Formats: sequence, C-alpha cells, structure tokens
Amino acid sequence: MSQTVNAFAALERGGPIRPWTYRQRDARPHDVRIEVLYCGICHTDLHYVGPWGRDYPVVPGHELVGRVTETGPSVTTHAVGDLVAVGPVIDSCRECPPCLAGEETLCLTVATSTYGAPDRHGDGVTRGGYAEQIIGDERFVYRLPDGLDPAAAAPLLCAGSTVFAPLRHWEAGPGRTVGIVGIGGLGHLGVKFARAMGAHVVAFTTSPAKAEDALRLGAHEAVITGDGEMPANRLDLIIDTVPAVHPMTPLVQALATDGTLVSVGLPASFDVAPFALAVGRKSIAGAGAGGTRSTREMLEFSAAHGITADIEVVGTGDINTALKRLEANDVKYRFVIDMKR
Ligand SMILES: [Zn+2]
Ligand SMILES: [Zn+2]
Repeated sequence: MSQTVNAFAALERGGPIRPWTYRQRDARPHDVRIEVLYCGICHTDLHYVGPWGRDYPVVPGHELVGRVTETGPSVTTHAVGDLVAVGPVIDSCRECPPCLAGEETLCLTVATSTYGAPDRHGDGVTRGGYAEQIIGDERFVYRLPDGLDPAAAAPLLCAGSTVFAPLRHWEAGPGRTVGIVGIGGLGHLGVKFARAMGAHVVAFTTSPAKAEDALRLGAHEAVITGDGEMPANRLDLIIDTVPAVHPMTPLVQALATDGTLVSVGLPASFDVAPFALAVGRKSIAGAGAGGTRSTREMLEFSAAHGITADIEVVGTGDINTALKRLEANDVKYRFVIDMKR
C-alpha cells in the first residue's frame, strides 16, 4: 500500500526546506517501512538543495536511524520494532560483480541514491530521511547494533562509512601511520576509527583549535597545515576529507614510499605536482561510502569500540539554520535532526 508522507523538502533549486507532503510509492514484498527518528545533515544535502538537485521537490537525508513499523511479506532480516539505519544507497542492480561482493556503492550500473534518484523499478523518485517515514529494500536497511546512541549513530551511515571503508580497504591498523586531513564531519570519525583500528594517527587541519580537538578525539599527533612543519616520507595512508581544492603536494610528500592518499572529499580538481608522486612511487585514489558488507562491519565495529559522531541535535524547525551553519563550517561535528521535535 502506498501512504501519504509528511516530509521536509526543497521545493525548488536553492529554496529553503519547507514542510511538504508526498505520496509514497507502493510497497514491494522485500520492503521495510521505517519511522524516522533521527537524520544526520550531510554536506551532500547542501549540494542537492543547491546546485546538484534535480527533480524538485527534493527530500534530502541519507544518514537516518528509525524504527521498523511494517515489513513486506518476503522480509526475513528485520522485524517490526527493530532499530535500523539507512545510508546513502537504497538500491542497486544486485547482479554485477561489485554488488555480488556486497560493494553496492561500486555497482557497475550506478547504485540508486537514497534520495533524488529515479527509482530503479520506474516508480518515481527516491525520497530521503527528512521525513516521518521512509521505505526501502531490506538489503539496504541495517540493524542498529545494541549500545549505539541512535542520534549519534545516524552520521555513521554516510560520514562514518565514507572514512571507514577506505581505512579498511587500504589496511589501516597496527604498525601503520595514517593521516586524516580535515577535522569535520568525516575527519573526526576518521580519527576515531583509525585510532580504534590500532594505527598511529596524524591529524592535519588548518585550525589550531581543531588540532587540539583532534588530539582529544584520539590522534597521536596533530599538524597545522600551511603553518606547522609537515612530516616527510612517513605516512602509509592519508584519508583526505577536504572538499575544496587545496595544495596536495605537501601531503603527498608526507607519504612514505608506496603510500596512498585517498581523497574522499573529492574537490573539483587535484592540486598536486605529478613529480611528487613519482618520487617514492606514491598514489592518489578516490573513494566513497562503503557497500552493505562494509557498512554492516562498520556498525559492528562502532558498537564494539563505542564510536559515534560528536553531534548537535536540532529540531525540524531548525533545518534551514543548520544548513546555513553547515555551509559556514560552524558545527562540531555533525547536525542531526530529531524528527520528533
Ligand atoms: Zn552523505
Ligand atoms: Zn550492481
């Protein structure tokens, strides 16, 4: 059955977020219906309300935690009443090699985004978590492990996954020195994960205040870029979360021989001297959020190590103010909307 959903949407490009009601697509046999309790505000939401949006109205939100209120007849993995979470991907082809490996974010036919994307089965456009409820296939709905605060866990689904997946893929762990560039929504979780994985963690930030914060979050060292002395030939892996174009050559020079700098901030271009890569046979790579296998592992890892985001909870009436403050980088370190407030 389809239902009418009360949501918060950008009705036009660049427009403010306003209350809006939409008719949800019909439920399918493997669908889980979720009452949204908390939804993180991701940087992507700003882009979709602004320049990248299409098919307005857009209901943003792809870091959500909620409670299952209904399960389709074929659902086997979730039950009514379960606390669950949804991240940036809500569907994929399920047949290509990455999908078969549980790496659906790498789907060769491009995975379906949780909001603002055409439904894979031709039933309208996907709508996100700034809403009283959402439906999605059970495969892309994650059980929230016990012990994780539901509000502070919400940002794990995108920000957390986006740093956890490359830390695992490039094998952060004991005996490895790992840099985290940019201490924000992603970076503060990167520091926590890398530390819990057993790596020696070096935080890079332009802000002296955030350098101190990074040490509190678990970094062994904090380097103030542009000012402080940069390490040389020392880091095995750097996760760079900065979304703006910035000088990467000093970061590449900080890498050890055969080291890799992974950009998850994905700026418009890479400002790097290729020669710096050749000296020391270094690599630059890109990465995004993990698929279902990595996301499940990330949630279990977070519960085992007591890792959640540092958050500021806002009510549904404060979404526009929060988006403005996020644009101005004025949040430590993630806004989460309490959908009941
Ligand atoms: Zn996101
Ligand atoms: Zn696929």
